[in-house]
Amino acid sequence: MADSVANDDGVARADVVCPACRAPLATDAHGAARCDGCGAGYPARPGCGPDLRPRQALVREATHRIPPGGTAPSWRASLVPELRPGTGPNLSHLEGEIFTLGNRLSTALASRLELRPGYRLLDLGCGAANSLGSVSLSPGVHHVGVDYEGDGPDYLVDAHALPFADDSFDGVISLAVLEHLRSPHLAAQEVARVLAPGGVFAGTVAFLEPFHEESTFHHSAHGLWLVLHEAGFVDIEIEPNRSWDVVQANLEMGLLPHVPSLLRRLLARLTSGVVHLVWRLTRTGASLERYAEFTGGFRFVARLPR
Ligand SMILES: [Zn+2]
Repeated sequence: MADSVANDDGVARADVVCPACRAPLATDAHGAARCDGCGAGYPARPGCGPDLRPRQALVREATHRIPPGGTAPSWRASLVPELRPGTGPNLSHLEGEIFTLGNRLSTALASRLELRPGYRLLDLGCGAANSLGSVSLSPGVHHVGVDYEGDGPDYLVDAHALPFADDSFDGVISLAVLEHLRSPHLAAQEVARVLAPGGVFAGTVAFLEPFHEESTFHHSAHGLWLVLHEAGFVDIEIEPNRSWDVVQANLEMGLLPHVPSLLRRLLARLTSGVVHLVWRLTRTGASLERYAEFTGGFRFVARLPR
């Protein structure tokens, strides 16, 4: 394991390494870090861990597993109507942005993080507010929130070159992040690298949301399965978000920009209700596959082999 980098003011500890060469980092009294290997310097951030985004352009390759013709395993077996509840915390008492806004956390998704004292959780794309970190997930859990920018994250990182040693975490959560990356394949492979064997990767990803905040690759269920499968994850479960379908996602995210939010939400609920009713009343049916075809996004859980 590499040296820890932590300030004295409550910043989450993590074993951080150079994102370029993965050599240990040494910190100075001001919280800036320097790589023992390649010599790269990483600037301090007031009250937080250093800015560990790469300081020079990096060339990285994602691995793709191309199966022999006619032998591809099917993504369809991973599609589930609802994620199976886990043994982790029941967060149904919590409200606020992380639960109520769009394609976010659900109680079932949170319960799949098998949190226990000493559990190391990476929140990949924690947002400017590092909001999951402010939630009391479970006593003794080491939560590390990272994002590409903002003052709230414990460290600034690039998801394609994570500044953590192999096997550094027991769980990784990423909410509405994969669609914003230039290579979700490479990022998922980085997640697999920093996770310990048996570690859990849980999160959400956009599908039929509009283009937003430089979103890059929106994922179908098939695409999400490929990203996880090719990174080596198993026991993949993919749940279409039923309370965030194509109608709701687009009305909430700017389709009618000048309509007040209360009216927009009413319209979304009404239109979405009519669509689901027609599905049920007609031969098209309200099947799991149909929800997957028209959802605004997916929730997912997968793990590494032990
Ligand atoms: Zn280095």
